[in-house]
Amino acid sequence: MINKDIKEAIANYKPCENSNCKCHEDVINQDLSPFKDGINKEQFDIAVTRATKYQIIDGKLYRQKDCHFPSRCTGVEHYLVALAPKLPNMELAINTRDWPQINQAWGRQKAPVLSFSKTKEYYDIMYPAWSFWEGGPAISLYPTGIGRWDKHRLSISEAAKKWPWSEKKNQVFFRGSRTSEERDALILLSRSRPELVDAQYTKNQAWKSDADTLYAPPASEVSFEEHCKYKYLFNYRGVAASFRFKHLFLCKSLVFHVGNDWLEFFYPSLKPWVHYVPISPKANQEEIIKYIEYFQQNDALAKEIADRGFQQIWDNLTVKDVRCYWRKLLKNYANLVKYEVKKDIDLIKV
Ligand code: UDP
Repeated sequence: MINKDIKEAIANYKPCENSNCKCHEDVINQDLSPFKDGINKEQFDIAVTRATKYQIIDGKLYRQKDCHFPSRCTGVEHYLVALAPKLPNMELAINTRDWPQINQAWGRQKAPVLSFSKTKEYYDIMYPAWSFWEGGPAISLYPTGIGRWDKHRLSISEAAKKWPWSEKKNQVFFRGSRTSEERDALILLSRSRPELVDAQYTKNQAWKSDADTLYAPPASEVSFEEHCKYKYLFNYRGVAASFRFKHLFLCKSLVFHVGNDWLEFFYPSLKPWVHYVPISPKANQEEIIKYIEYFQQNDALAKEIADRGFQQIWDNLTVKDVRCYWRKLLKNYANLVKYEVKKDIDLIKV
């Protein structure tokens, strides 16, 4: 069955064009399609009640004074300041919360909120998360917050060289906090089959007692580079999509991605069975074991998927791709705006 799924996925796989962020272009088209008849002022006014207001006027970037998460705004602004001189005048409602804002089922009017992550149930328009530059969660290893994707690309891919496939431990690895209960199955499996799985909960800011780490003391945090020691790495959603995902591929380990609801802009460019192993969030411990053992017994196949996953991220999620995505997204967005954008004097220059 797994064998058949892999064969089919590879037979149907068409690699995307590796230039000008083309691998991610469909996501822009799809996210903007609900607004294909144009974005009016009323829609923007709704959007901005749920986000931070930005304007680009005469090539300069402006923002409302308050920003709920200053380092997230800085992470976003890193790209916007660089792009602003080449963009037309526009205004944007950029949501820096974890959650998307405009659920289709709520029956409200569509509103163009830009968010880093969403499910298909939302009208939110995905933008590259702040943490490509800065503002990701702060953990002891990354006290100023996870960011600098440019640096992580280099340091994690270097670590992958130190741990080539044949040297990696034949074990599943996961470290992270309990931001979603979907992670419990793997943590419990680690407790019953420690030789197969090393998965432990770490603390996060909400941690109060061992109950928050599923009745075990919190584990120490482990850097992305250290993850490269292991052949199999699990990714789970957290509150929304987890920033972990893109980093795991850089280890050239086999990524098991649990659930496919929560997206970031680059997720659709990664294909199940081609670049990673898809796992249902409902999978119980026996099912998880079945997948792990399959790849332990089909080691060459596991390595092929791991290598393709690495290459896809390495080639198509460069800093240039992120900048390119922002640029295309904003140009296409600006083309849809039907009203005249007037400079808001309450905004501050970034
Ligand atoms: N993280 C890490 N090492 C750890 C624990 C977490 O590098 O030991 C990273 C993790 O990959 C993620 C971030 O810290 O990018 C927050 O992880 P957590 O599991 O707390 O929350 P998530 O964002 O995944 O829901």
